[in-house]
Amino acid sequence: MTAAAQLSLRIVERFVSIQGEGLLVGTPSSFVRISGCNLRCRWCDTPNSSWRPEGTRVDIDELVAFCGFGPRHVVVTGGEPLVFPATAALVDRLRERGHHVTIETAATVDCHGLTADLISMSPKLANSTPIDGPFAARHEARRFRPLVVRALMAMPWQLKFVIRTQPAESLAADIREVEDMLAAFGVRERDRDRVLLMPECTRAEELSAAYAALVPACTSRGFRLGQRLHIAIFGHVAGT
Ligand code: SF4
Repeated sequence: MTAAAQLSLRIVERFVSIQGEGLLVGTPSSFVRISGCNLRCRWCDTPNSSWRPEGTRVDIDELVAFCGFGPRHVVVTGGEPLVFPATAALVDRLRERGHHVTIETAATVDCHGLTADLISMSPKLANSTPIDGPFAARHEARRFRPLVVRALMAMPWQLKFVIRTQPAESLAADIREVEDMLAAFGVRERDRDRVLLMPECTRAEELSAAYAALVPACTSRGFRLGQRLHIAIFGHVAGT
């Protein structure tokens, strides 16, 4: 047995669906959701991998076998996959077998030498910080790590930002913060179509209005409108 084969990760769910977000939206993919996160977003849509972590330990061999029965594309998500050194071994094994691997990350921790086909970074704006409680100060101190983002940009990348679309003042504040972050990350003008604005919205019936609110910022600033296709199709349910 190799060292990599002995590794395991705490997994909260794994499933096959379509990619609902980002530049590869609509792509059939296997999803592996790792439990555990160094942040505590106020509006976290997967609290079973952050606020109330669940899941069981699964050998990397078993995860590779699961993905082997599915599509070429694999999405390793969380939680925060980069917190766990074993994630790099999982990604290596998947890529050796010909999979295209996307890593979903908040981009606040080093990547342990990991190489992905797409690093999907979702830096958290101030709107993510808990109002109060024991995690508020810790989250605020951790959420913005421009040097980490710059290092991760050595891989093919995308940046996704969760934006409040109401009221207008909140939307404007979020867009200003996105611009400040992009300047800190050194994002070039010609790469702004790799920056996606996604509405903070988990209700399918509210998505159209939320998208519409983001269109002016996209058209005037060169950002891409970030879909939440899985919510539009399935609603906000696990395993999709
Ligand atoms: S980084 Fe992601 S998983 Fe972690 S608390 Fe924020 S939204 Fe939830």
